[in-house]
Amino acid sequence: MEPLIYLDNNATTAVDPGVLEKMLPFFNQEYANASSTVHRAGKQAAAAVDQARKELAGLLNARESEFYFTSGSTEAINWALKGAYQRFREFRRHIITLQTEHKAVLDTCRYLEKQGAEVTYLPVQENGQVDPQELRSALKETTFLAAIMYANNETGVIQPVNEIAEVLKDHPALWFCDATQAVGKLPLDLSELPVDMLALSAHKFYGPKGAGALYIRKAARSTPVEPLLHGGGQQQGLRAGTLNVPGIVGLGEAARIAKMQMQTDAARIRPMRDALQDRLGALPGTLVQGSGVPRLYNTLNITFRFVRAEELIVSLPALALSAGSACTTGSLDPSHVLIAMGLSPEDARATLRISLGRFNTAESVQSAADALIAQVGRLRAGSPLWSMYRDGHIT
Ligand code: PLP
Repeated sequence: MEPLIYLDNNATTAVDPGVLEKMLPFFNQEYANASSTVHRAGKQAAAAVDQARKELAGLLNARESEFYFTSGSTEAINWALKGAYQRFREFRRHIITLQTEHKAVLDTCRYLEKQGAEVTYLPVQENGQVDPQELRSALKETTFLAAIMYANNETGVIQPVNEIAEVLKDHPALWFCDATQAVGKLPLDLSELPVDMLALSAHKFYGPKGAGALYIRKAARSTPVEPLLHGGGQQQGLRAGTLNVPGIVGLGEAARIAKMQMQTDAARIRPMRDALQDRLGALPGTLVQGSGVPRLYNTLNITFRFVRAEELIVSLPALALSAGSACTTGSLDPSHVLIAMGLSPEDARATLRISLGRFNTAESVQSAADALIAQVGRLRAGSPLWSMYRDGHIT
């Protein structure tokens, strides 16, 4: 079998070797329960958790006590949205979110609608960004939460966070930000970015799967969410349950490495992405999505018109690519993100997500481009629609 070229880093990343090394002793040597602080072993486990919290706080310039460890972003998102609804529903029930959010946000909003919440799903512009004026107009007296992400997992498009902050500044609504794709890739500073809550996940930045966090800003007012899990009182009574010490240690180490290596990663990965974009984008009948606005430096979302992305992926087994977000593949629906950006269902189905990471090399990305170009050509050669398009009979 040909070696795999992994180009699906927005779905998940490999665990960095340094992260793995740091985690290993916590499985069978330093395996004590971090709540068992009556003995020395438990104290050591608790100290390792504290260290991870420090690393996370250092990466995001926040306070250590503002992080609650979860199993990942889906859990953090569910907690933020449902927990805030429980807290506010008596007086305010309106949520604003974007049509291009991750399904973890959208499906939770749909669930909350069944519980009595009112949800506005804001459209985005063709470039994938929300118009801050639309956000302003959507705010009501009853809005208690704006769930607006940082960077999109499919297109990499970064929302205009400073303008969003400006709009939300004068309104009591909380800002929950799904920053799953931004943390570890971009220099986020929570002393400047006025989000009230934020979700992050270790496996998107070279940490392990099953470890993430919800950041909850310590404000003068009381905690904006109800507890997620009741039990042994861990994590200030808000998210009970024995802490996943190896996972949390891995998350902390991934955060420490990200802080150190973020600029180097960006400087190496961006040119590879740009070169890939230049080559693939030069093919006729291709469209690069979100190219006119700030985007994650590792992401290329590209439409090869009249080619089924799923067919393209299946026909190139040596490449790991995505036809949309991993969580929704398997469904026949075209990407809700691309549809919200105004693509036709046909063009959405012809769109591929290529997401690079720390362990890709320029040579392997070049070979992937060669393989893609050749295969797009082959698939189009058998397509009557492509011939009609090429000859100008259809647009
Ligand atoms: N939000 C975004 C933007 C994501 O990309 C993902 C991962 O696919 C999630 C949420 C869910 O994260 P997790 O896999 O940690 O539950």
